[in-house]
Amino acid sequence: MAIYDPKSLKAEEFINDAEIRATLEYAEANKNNVELIDQILEKARPQKTATGCVCAGLTHREASVLLACEIPKKIEKMYQIAEEIKLAFYGNRIVIFAPLYLSNYCVNGCVYCPYHHINKHIVRKKLTQEEVKAEVIALQDMGHKRLAIEAGEDPVNNPIEYILDCIKTIYSVHHKNGDIRRVNVNIAATTVENYRKLKEAGIGTYILFQETYHKESYLKLHPTGPKHDYDYHTEAMDRAMEGGIDDVGLGVLFGLELYKYEFAGLIMHAEHLEAVHGVGPHTISVPRLKRADDIDPDDFDNGIDDDTFAKITACIRLAVPYTGMIISTRETEATRQKLLRLGISQVSGGSRTSVGGYTEVERPHDTEQFDVSDQRTLDEVVKWLMDNGHIPSFCTACYREGRTGDRFMSLCKNGQILNCCHPNALMTLAEYLEDYASPETKATGYKMIAEELEKIPNEKVRGIARENIEAIRSSNRRDFRF
Ligand code: SAM
Repeated sequence: MAIYDPKSLKAEEFINDAEIRATLEYAEANKNNVELIDQILEKARPQKTATGCVCAGLTHREASVLLACEIPKKIEKMYQIAEEIKLAFYGNRIVIFAPLYLSNYCVNGCVYCPYHHINKHIVRKKLTQEEVKAEVIALQDMGHKRLAIEAGEDPVNNPIEYILDCIKTIYSVHHKNGDIRRVNVNIAATTVENYRKLKEAGIGTYILFQETYHKESYLKLHPTGPKHDYDYHTEAMDRAMEGGIDDVGLGVLFGLELYKYEFAGLIMHAEHLEAVHGVGPHTISVPRLKRADDIDPDDFDNGIDDDTFAKITACIRLAVPYTGMIISTRETEATRQKLLRLGISQVSGGSRTSVGGYTEVERPHDTEQFDVSDQRTLDEVVKWLMDNGHIPSFCTACYREGRTGDRFMSLCKNGQILNCCHPNALMTLAEYLEDYASPETKATGYKMIAEELEKIPNEKVRGIARENIEAIRSSNRRDFRF
């Protein structure tokens, strides 16, 4: 039997089934242990330091106890601390991005995804470079600066060279005042050599959802194709880091397996990355299974309700306080609104999950990966965020300034966010307001900018940010950053 070892590079040792089961037993046995729960909550709370704020985070065992706890007052406390952590390290900024689907050709047999190769009636499409350009222009015209590219796994139709060509094309398009400044990549697990190529192409985060950490279920849910190899998939982030990618994004697809098992696995994966590479995941996504072409979520037994989903989000926030958290348009406006208070730091907006969807007037469904619940335009999402007290941020400065991996984390820990990320958010919001916003959004935005500028502690930084925003308003000068 494999022995649990967070430092091991073997999937079955760092995501260790026996350790997860022991964790779940421990959590169940302690779910009413108020004294222990209070200690764990106290440990999770942000602590002030001379230079800023620090958070201890939680181990997978501690976080699992909180997730198991059903005492309403304690859950309220978790939510309150999750919000405190979010505000301490990410402020009231919410980073915005959009997915860009390049190709839905796929050789895998994932039973929850409509791109599975047995699906013979879904239209298969792969963008040409001209079509990528057209999609990027459409996305730039909406105001996007950050994309996550998505593709099925198909060595013939979507080889790494194709993905690299697309990245090159995306970065080359400069339409009016627009440009895409960060391309995150969500493609299947690959080799160290290919990760190195992605790094050289200038990608931001490499995102790969584990789907499920439960090996037995994983093998059934991925019955055929290269993705069937659980170990290769689970060890992908180590290969990505070996290939030089500092920022990696984890996630499980909630609804496939029992959520408590997935949660423990997810936090163990984060602990493993920290133990081996000295830096945890840059982001964690929390997708839930959705209806899609030939996929009915009711065919899966492990769907989670909105309250459980909120609790999972808050517990992740407490366990890994410095990791960004992403919620997509799989979720409704109401769910997104609730989760934004519990630690989410990035949202997608105006998304289309079909190949070539952004250049169509009507939302196409024929090549779609899943139903989009939040179908609002980017402008509506931006206005809604501001109406709820969040600053929509189009900032991409960190990785362009070399602040990746542990350098980004130390920025968080040193409390420099208010002098760096905050002005960057305001300057990129001003770009959005000038170039793409509706009159109502623009009015709300400039009011918010005026108020938020006052919160920048360093007088010099505040002055420069104010000048740059004036320059954005009165000229075509763009892309200022700290
Ligand atoms: N082919 C790559 C891979 O295997 O990782 C790229 C991923 S795919 C384009 C993006 C993600 O969508 C998947 O990792 C999966 O978690 C999610 N997904 C697939 N089917 C879904 C569904 N029916 N509802 C919600 N999310 C789904």
